[in-house]
Amino acid sequence: RSNAEKFEFQAEVSRLMDIIINSLYSNKDIFLRELISNASDALDKIRFLSLTDKEVLGEGDNTKLDIQIKLDKEKKILSIRDRGIGMTKEDLIKNLGTIAKSGTSAFVEKMQTSGDLNLIGQFGVGFYSVYLVADYVEVISKHNEDKQYVWESKADGAFAISEDTWNEPLGRGTEIRLHLKEEAGEYLEESKLKELVKRYSEFINFPIYIWASKEVDVEVPADEDDSGDEDDSADGSSKEETEDEDADKGEDEDKPKTKTVKETTYEWELLNDVKAIWLRNPKEVTEEEYTKFYHSLAKDFSDEKPLSWSHFTAEGDVEFKAVLFVPPKAPQDLYESYYNANKSNLKLYVRRVFISDEFDELLPKYLNFLRGLVDSDTLPLNVSREMLQQHNSLKTIKKKLIRKALDMIRRIADEDPDESSDREKKEDASSDNDEKKGQYVKFWNEFGKSIKLGIIEDATNRNRLAKLLRFESTKSDGKLTSLDQYISRMKAGQKDIFYITGTSKEQLEKSPFLEQLKKKNFEVIYFTDPVDEYLMQYLMDYEDKKFQNVSKEGLKLGKDTKNKELKESFKDLTKWWKTALSKDNVDDVKISNRLDNTPCVVVTSKYGWSANMERIMQSQTL
Ligand code: ADP
Ligand code: MG
Repeated sequence: RSNAEKFEFQAEVSRLMDIIINSLYSNKDIFLRELISNASDALDKIRFLSLTDKEVLGEGDNTKLDIQIKLDKEKKILSIRDRGIGMTKEDLIKNLGTIAKSGTSAFVEKMQTSGDLNLIGQFGVGFYSVYLVADYVEVISKHNEDKQYVWESKADGAFAISEDTWNEPLGRGTEIRLHLKEEAGEYLEESKLKELVKRYSEFINFPIYIWASKEVDVEVPADEDDSGDEDDSADGSSKEETEDEDADKGEDEDKPKTKTVKETTYEWELLNDVKAIWLRNPKEVTEEEYTKFYHSLAKDFSDEKPLSWSHFTAEGDVEFKAVLFVPPKAPQDLYESYYNANKSNLKLYVRRVFISDEFDELLPKYLNFLRGLVDSDTLPLNVSREMLQQHNSLKTIKKKLIRKALDMIRRIADEDPDESSDREKKEDASSDNDEKKGQYVKFWNEFGKSIKLGIIEDATNRNRLAKLLRFESTKSDGKLTSLDQYISRMKAGQKDIFYITGTSKEQLEKSPFLEQLKKKNFEVIYFTDPVDEYLMQYLMDYEDKKFQNVSKEGLKLGKDTKNKELKESFKDLTKWWKTALSKDNVDDVKISNRLDNTPCVVVTSKYGWSANMERIMQSQTL
């Protein structure tokens, strides 16, 4: 072009482009997310300006803050257009080539070692990802304060800028035209683009449209005789004939007057109809919307509802919005790779821009079963993930998320009529209650182990987590019960919370350790999950009550005056027994008040492993 001005890319930028255009990186999809993210940024900027100056939006179509994707299959052009702030000639020169950002060399360095191209956006050079799929790119841009310009480059070390005298005026904003590489043909498929927008940009705050083709049925006049074409051009009259068809019904039914043919039409199709739910007022979001949002977030297209959710805004030093979900089911492998895989299922957005869904620093491992997203206004956008992971705000975010998550889980129990501690409480016969009925048991069966792991791992929230614990006991009647309920049933004078560990309830029910306790009407918790042994090494007390393993030394069932006498009279026997069993087998032989029918029992020392723990340890070493 005669009016084109040529520029060299800054050296670092040029290297970056070389790397990208020659990249064998397989996930080329990311370019679209980067372009949409840029479009969204540009829209955010003009929107921000319009807050103080309405004039900047102009009028007519210019006021529409949207993003449009268009395909030209013949010319192999994919274009993305926004009505954002646009770029002046100077902006184009600086932003797209001559001024390297701080992230440029960092990213180049990264890519030369073991970098993941997927991070490109976080280094502030996302635009150049267009060269993953295109070998020639045009950027047409119109800023309110300048004329319309075209930036173009074939990633050959140089770019050109020309005043745009041939394209249609944009009004305001930017259109990026990607002349796709031969091997990038898939990006000419509407379905592919729709999928990508759904996957990466669904929750962009501006409407994203695609110029979509649609096969429609069109009624055209049926040819009276196939060879004849006399009437074909008579458009007006044939239409009338069609409209009259109804009236003519019955007259000559055997002769259809119209026929249906397929025709391709185009129209703007909105791709992100799910509005960013987390930005809305929770009071205005329906249950169905949350459910749908959960499904898209979790890519869980069953029709099961999440068990619970929490939508909140955190304010103060660290501001963020978050939506958390408890899924209806645990994934198969939730505990399989618990200690190796560190995979949180929260999506992290920073200022509406999707950053990552593999960000481990947001939640502790034991809450990895949750789904949801966090949108932070405090975290910086253009830093590497490593830097983001070390950002100060994350600690605060994590702390608040845990709190909210535990509240949310507790709410499942609180709203579950099966859970109410006073079971005689008149059943509130509302349908809402029906829906919540049995939800906590469901939660417990799916994720109970996570709560136990939480008690082990999270000392800060141990008490909160212990509240969520459920188990069976000698008095729970086959149902699950909680520590609070246990405490409410404790006998006068009972100091400790009694429990016993073993492989199954059936096995434990027969245990001689329970004889006296049962007789004296004490409640004993059954812990039958292998993790329970570990759990009880961390859960020492609850609400000022100590836990006592009834198979261990130290069991106190209140005052027993006879004990002293018995001790005296059986002194010789216990002494003899102790020597007879030798030191290697037992530590001590004692008179006990814990038995009823069984004459004697082997008890574990207070700080030793329980018999059940021995069994678990043995099975692990085998
Ligand atoms: P980042 O978005 O992190 O700043 P990019 O490489 O994606 O980095 O974009 C570089 C710059 O180009 C942006 O900061 C912006 O100034 C400009 N830019 C890119 N796309 C657009 C657009 N659609 N509208 C306006 N400016 C844009
Ligand atoms: Mg960008």
